Amino acid sequence: MNNSDSRIFFIMGVSGVGKTTVGKLLAQNFNIPFFDGDDFHPEYNIKKMAGGHPLSDEDRLEWLKSLNKLAKDHAKESGCVIACSALKENYRNLLEDDLNQSPHWIYLEGSFDLISSRLKNRKGHYMPSNLLHSQFDTLEIPDNALTFNVENPAEEIVEMIVQKLNDQAEFGLIGLGVMGKSLCRNLASKGVKISMFNRHVPGKEENIASDFKQQHKELENALAFDELHKFVSSLQQPRKIFLMVNAGSAIDAVIEELAPLLSKNDIIIDGGNSHYEDTARRESLLSEKGLFFIGCGVSGGEEGALKGPSIMPGGDLQAYDLIKPYLEKIAARDKNDNACCTYIGKSGSGHFTKMLHNGIEYAEMQLLAEFYQIFKTKGNNPDEIAEILSKSDVDTQSYLLEITIDILKKREGNDWLIHKILDKAGNKGTGNWTTIASAQLGVPSTLIAGSLFARYLSAFKDDRDRVQNILPSELSAIEVSIDHILEAYQLARIINHIQGFKFLKEASETYKWSLNLSEIARIWTNGCIIRSELMEKLVDMLKSGDDLILHTEISSSIKKLKPALSKVVAKCIESNIAVPCLSEAINFLNGISQADSPANLIQAQRDYFGAHTYQRVDDKSGKFHHTEWLK
Ligand code: NDP
Repeated sequence: MNNSDSRIFFIMGVSGVGKTTVGKLLAQNFNIPFFDGDDFHPEYNIKKMAGGHPLSDEDRLEWLKSLNKLAKDHAKESGCVIACSALKENYRNLLEDDLNQSPHWIYLEGSFDLISSRLKNRKGHYMPSNLLHSQFDTLEIPDNALTFNVENPAEEIVEMIVQKLNDQAEFGLIGLGVMGKSLCRNLASKGVKISMFNRHVPGKEENIASDFKQQHKELENALAFDELHKFVSSLQQPRKIFLMVNAGSAIDAVIEELAPLLSKNDIIIDGGNSHYEDTARRESLLSEKGLFFIGCGVSGGEEGALKGPSIMPGGDLQAYDLIKPYLEKIAARDKNDNACCTYIGKSGSGHFTKMLHNGIEYAEMQLLAEFYQIFKTKGNNPDEIAEILSKSDVDTQSYLLEITIDILKKREGNDWLIHKILDKAGNKGTGNWTTIASAQLGVPSTLIAGSLFARYLSAFKDDRDRVQNILPSELSAIEVSIDHILEAYQLARIINHIQGFKFLKEASETYKWSLNLSEIARIWTNGCIIRSELMEKLVDMLKSGDDLILHTEISSSIKKLKPALSKVVAKCIESNIAVPCLSEAINFLNGISQADSPANLIQAQRDYFGAHTYQRVDDKSGKFHHTEWLK
């Protein structure tokens, strides 16, 4: 028997609700065995109950454990139905402890008067009303059960249970903003039955999910909710819930509300741009509750999310296997028609990889901005710059280059729109995180840092206006050929990617993530913002080693293109053009390709003022030495 065909049902409720009748019919319907929990009480409990004494929690422990074992044994087979009052949440936790699947909880509810009169009419089963009262007092109504009123006949309840199970959605999505909406449409268009939820904020956010469902034909089978518990109940178990809400405190707020409604083994997937350390923290917090948490980077923006994003999931591999079919269905396809989605690694590695993706993106964008500036000072208008860029070598082709060409061509009235956009760059923090993480790891990701600080500098618009008045710095056109400029661009991009993958390699070793860099490059060949011809080439190169700079094709490109990069940077400086990313590229290249560096002086200074010691080139033992510098 395939374990995925197995179903475990617990039918719960106070004595007299009809658990046995409904349970037997349900078992019959699914052709699985039925067990009455009362038959599993140890001798001691039976005697105690026969004496009219209620059972304590301690008395129940062994009994609940034996029912848990029963469920576990049958989970390996076709499953079973177990009737058990399970009035308290901790009883239910014990019943589903260590089960390899989430059981279905069926709660049969009825009023005290109805149950009491039923019990009175039941031969030989009369229960004193005070005992029934105490059951109602003890009852902790479950949040995560399918609930049915026992005023309905048992046959109808079973029909409703089956119907409910058939109607349940395979995949849930919380947060119907820009990305969430696109992902819902993407999933639904691939035939996945989804449940959608957006919070209800009176007067502001009302009926978001149901209005959205009405707007799109592909969502006709989707279920729409603005009540979280109903959304949760609408999902097949183990539930797979994708969060597409703003990173930070909103994720914690949603988890806090959601987690108590979930059952063991349910999976929460955070598709936002969360910080990888937050993801690791959330994963361990939720694992204590028996829930899985997958930190899942998603790139591609609104359109990517709709038509196929690049997806970077990290977390528990077993949980990933359950969501993999859905993620692969909606992901972009690479040139071999494989999904641009791969298991990245444990813990926060998915979000870390997405963070680095955004870091590379920052530098790619800044490089294009610097070249726009260079061509501008050469006197080219936006159309001419677009024309030059569109004729550039295939090796410089990328999504960001394509959109830059479109942007430059966009007119508004008699002018280009780009001339009307204020030159203050915003950011949402991922470049900042990447720069901090790279500093923490001790990896020189200088292009990412350069592009981040270039954005910050741009944001000081007022300062720039003021300083320009006292320190005018006239831009003058640089005298280099278009070919040289484009070669410099090509090499700076290569260096950006060398640094990016070096960063991932170091993180992988430090955090023991065993990242497959070639696979990561592969899922970045389509769907995401940094897709490019260069990325296509890196997939194979990274198969033969993680150190890109040592790859023969890369080193021969560097040899060929370096003179152009040096020349362009030198000319830019002479012409007062700020090119932080380009100059980081040539400085990195000069630094990494020279065996001799001036760091011996740094070591001497450190030893001089702080006795930090230094190693000697003439002592191969690696021993640390100290000098009394003033003696
Ligand atoms: P939006 O601002 O468009 O949508 C955010 C959603 O989160 C809304 O549905 C909002 O609900 C919901 N939300 C916010 N706070 C809460 C809360 N406290 N409780 C419940 N729901 C809440 O964001 P995006 O869709 O653009 O982005 C979502 C995530 O995806 C972010 O982490 C973002 O960084 C990431 N991302 C975005 C990309 C993009 O191109 N936009 C690309 C890749 C990742 P309500 O409408 O009620 O306010």
